[in-house]
Amino acid sequence: METKVLLPTKENIAKAGEALFNGQLVGIPTETVYGLAANALDGEAVKSIFAAKGRPADNPLIVHISDISQIERFHLVSEIPEAAEKLMAAYWPGPLTIIMKKGDVPSEVTAGLDTVAVRFPSHPVTKKIITAANCPLAAPSANTSGKPSPTTAEHVFHDMNGKIPYIVDGGACEVGVESTVITVAGDVPVLLRPGGITPEQLEAVLGHIEIADAVLNQLKEGETAASPGMKYKHYAPSAKITLIKSSDEKYIEYVNAHKDEGAAALCYDEDVPFLSVKTYPYGAKNDYESQANRIFDVLRQMDDDGAGIVYGRCPDTNGTAMAVYNRLIRAAGFEVIELA
Ligand code: AMP
Ligand code: MG
Repeated sequence: METKVLLPTKENIAKAGEALFNGQLVGIPTETVYGLAANALDGEAVKSIFAAKGRPADNPLIVHISDISQIERFHLVSEIPEAAEKLMAAYWPGPLTIIMKKGDVPSEVTAGLDTVAVRFPSHPVTKKIITAANCPLAAPSANTSGKPSPTTAEHVFHDMNGKIPYIVDGGACEVGVESTVITVAGDVPVLLRPGGITPEQLEAVLGHIEIADAVLNQLKEGETAASPGMKYKHYAPSAKITLIKSSDEKYIEYVNAHKDEGAAALCYDEDVPFLSVKTYPYGAKNDYESQANRIFDVLRQMDDDGAGIVYGRCPDTNGTAMAVYNRLIRAAGFEVIELA
């Protein structure tokens, strides 16, 4: 199959919408990362997402809508809890996915769970595509499963060329990491995946929330993940990444001492002038938004260059940096060296 990259003109959005309605897959831009979309009400179409990505069938998908009224119109959930209403009012449209008890959604979307993940994206092109398709869209990130998520149409083309008919090019993604995922299906709201909406922003609306253990830590043998996606090796480039938790000076000293291994540095912008190895700066030290925005592109660049051994600066864990930490710790297979 030839994969065409479409600019988001009126005609092309109509074309993408029609293809989606008819059960085909389309790569779509969103404000978080690019998605691989299918008609969420068409179980067969949804199955083909798993095939194109090589995604394990037990990892459920997020359902995307372009208006809150579509939750009722398509009977996506069995009830909307008060906590969900508060979150929708505060952060929709935007990079927040809310998990609620499921309604009439095919089991392929929810991987057999009794809950469903719903998001109302803010990207103007995403909204137009959903509206043109006239159905909610199930869409995971448009990367090959396990690889870094795509933040440009080129990234999607790299992973999906020949597998899907269309990719709509809406430019580079603004947030750069996937949505925050919170469940309000239980008694207490639980953060399952950090993203563009921070825990502090969630607590401002809901009061105390819990943070699932898998957000910051590796799951133990036999432990079940509240969010199935958390148990898989993820976001990983081919390079072997080790994260270094230390002061600026210790990091620079450590990396320079490993120059002879042919090591590269996944560092902060400020570190670059002090490093004598190949550098992959992923943002300024105190600018968590820029780190989120660039991290996946930088991980892909490392693959393009065939980087082998990489020492990365361990991100902070507060604010938006929690999302960057959550992705990088997985990209590094939880390999962290702490230098006192
Ligand atoms: P992605 O599609 O790549 O953005 O990943 C979606 C994430 O949301 C994965 O980590 C899924 O495991 C998680 N997810 C989707 N639906 C549910 C659900 N019903 N319950 C828990 N986690 C979910
Ligand atoms: Mg993904």
